[in-house]
Amino acid sequence: MSIPQLSVVIPVYNEEEGLPTLFGRLYPALDKLGIKYEVVFINDGSRDSSAAILREQFQLRPDVTRVILFNGNFGQHMAIMAGFEHTRGQRVVTLDADLQNPPEEIATLLAKMDEGFDYVGSIRKKRSDSWWRHIASRAMNGLRERITRIKMTDQGCMLRAYDRNIIDAINGCKEVNTFVPALAYTFARNPGEVVVEHEERAQGESKYSLYSLIRLNFDLMTGFSVIPLQWFSMAGIAISLLSAFFVVFLLVRRLIIGPEAEGLFTLFAIAFFLIGITLFGIGLLGEYIGRIYQQVRHRPRYLIQAVLDKTE
Ligand code: UDP
Ligand code: MG
Repeated sequence: MSIPQLSVVIPVYNEEEGLPTLFGRLYPALDKLGIKYEVVFINDGSRDSSAAILREQFQLRPDVTRVILFNGNFGQHMAIMAGFEHTRGQRVVTLDADLQNPPEEIATLLAKMDEGFDYVGSIRKKRSDSWWRHIASRAMNGLRERITRIKMTDQGCMLRAYDRNIIDAINGCKEVNTFVPALAYTFARNPGEVVVEHEERAQGESKYSLYSLIRLNFDLMTGFSVIPLQWFSMAGIAISLLSAFFVVFLLVRRLIIGPEAEGLFTLFAIAFFLIGITLFGIGLLGEYIGRIYQQVRHRPRYLIQAVLDKTE
């Protein structure tokens, strides 16, 4: 058995409308590369006919296709992690099933890797997102870069290429609730980025809402850094110092000028401000504790119902 040079990993969740077009463009694009490749599809518990369509495709190209069928919906990143464990290629490329990342761009990523990069991310050329999403994602990017030291110009783009060393390192991680591109970045020796074409979602709809985008960013910051905790304890120290000064000031004032009863609402404002900070701190602690909780339960991260594989 010879090792393929390229493995393509594609998570699939309710993508029945788009899959035929994906196959129609993906396989010719890969054949054109002229290298030995394999495609690993992970059906993440789709409730439509995606699994059946993947089975059909497996029958058509069993030599280069592998299908992992999950028992339920475990999320995009768990699907990718499961896919990684079933890859054998020297290089691994992840791709979304919705054709927002054109499969023809895989060649661009591989060319960049030939220059000596072991991790190649991609930046979508013309983002067809709404303006508020654009501003929000730029602000999040800046904050994330400061907190986690992970540099990703376009974190929403899953078209990425990884060297085998990175994949092996990721396979050694039993992390729950992770974000694959960020995890890979922490293992990369020489990460690079390329600009790729970007298309509107052709069929189906986005699986992510604004809420899950906020969640994702929270997961990123608390999953890859303890800086939020450190910032918070620093803020705690600063506020304690300030309030100590305030107490001294009030004491002196009491002795010199006498008792005061005015400024009640100022006091309220200060109290609410401090309560807000306290609540945020409890929430922040909770995020970390929640991660610890999920990790120590040692539950299986995903359940595989079947693997369709004839390539052994
Ligand atoms: N996906 C998945 N499991 C999920 C949600 C999404 O496997 O629970 C897959 C989905 O089929 C697609 C990719 O992850 O291939 C990205 O999802 P989507 O296009 O909805 O995300 P967006 O592009 O809007 O960020
Ligand atoms: Mg998409």
